[in-house]
Amino acid sequence: MSQRDFYNVLGIPRTASQDDVKKAYRGLAMRYHPDKNDGDDEAGQRFKDITEAYRALSDPDRRARYDRLGPLYTENGRPPRPEDVQDMVSGVLGGFFRRRGTEPGEDLRYTVSVSLEDVASGVEKEIIVPRRVRCRTCGGDGADPNGGREVCAPCNGSGRSTGRLFRTDCYHCAGKGFVVKKKCEACEGDGRHPTEDSLRVKIPPGVATGTRLKLKGKGDSPRGSGVDGDLFVIVSVSDHPVFRRRGDDVLVEVPLLFSEAALGADVVVPTLEGTTTIRIPSGTASGKILRLAGRGLPHVSGSGKGDLHLQIALEVPEGLSVEQREALERWSRSLDKTQHVRRAAFDHAVRERLKK
Ligand SMILES: [Zn+2]
Ligand SMILES: [Zn+2]
Repeated sequence: MSQRDFYNVLGIPRTASQDDVKKAYRGLAMRYHPDKNDGDDEAGQRFKDITEAYRALSDPDRRARYDRLGPLYTENGRPPRPEDVQDMVSGVLGGFFRRRGTEPGEDLRYTVSVSLEDVASGVEKEIIVPRRVRCRTCGGDGADPNGGREVCAPCNGSGRSTGRLFRTDCYHCAGKGFVVKKKCEACEGDGRHPTEDSLRVKIPPGVATGTRLKLKGKGDSPRGSGVDGDLFVIVSVSDHPVFRRRGDDVLVEVPLLFSEAALGADVVVPTLEGTTTIRIPSGTASGKILRLAGRGLPHVSGSGKGDLHLQIALEVPEGLSVEQREALERWSRSLDKTQHVRRAAFDHAVRERLKK
């Protein structure tokens, strides 16, 4: 079962004599013999195809059967299995809709780091992206512009094999209609050359780590005539020394001196845009969160903003001097229970346990 046209594989017309078949086979077999192409998979596959075509066409009985059945031909003469017919039909239809040599180029990925402040305001970043672009010397076909390209003889430049029942891509030129006789020197036959593109990328406000931005047509050029691939810029938001992100909300820990928490104070705190002064009421507990509505990050959809959360953390002074220690002890003795209700309740619970 072969989806290829055996005549096209050997590069001969359907009217070829048995001698022509032999000659064509010998020439191709010499070129693609595994001994001469050590380890080259493509050459190995070609050699198998050529041999299969030759076995069918070199025997007059088999050749007559192949001419009659076309792609339904099997070497042992048995009818093809249903799944083979299915494979053949989908293979031929696939080839019909997708002409080879016109596949798009590869998509590329590039990771860009942004700060939390960038996320808040949005930012434009310049990135340098290594990519492969179509060679201007040969226009992408990889052939020397001065006669490096030759019309493919087996398909006469059509890129199609004239199979008996179906038309498929020509075996020799992979559907391109020409073969490269001399490689383009500028791109060494690849049809593309490496370059570095400097691009400006708009990072919209509100993005998060993993956000993907698509830059159409900024990926690799393909070999051949297809369109360029796309570039996907992946955002990575750096950790911030002061702000922690919770979705669109931002959390800042505010270390308060004990006296500030007890007496109340005006404290300057950092925000994403700069600073602001907040009033800490007297008697503020450690762990309390003060919320500044609308001072967080913008929603990526473009409407509204999260909040800025200020979390109070009491800082206990260390290394007290003798005078400080005495002052603090004096002050501590002056407190009564109503001034620290949670500790009073706790002490009470402990006393109750001791009674039991
Ligand atoms: Zn070139
Ligand atoms: Zn061809």
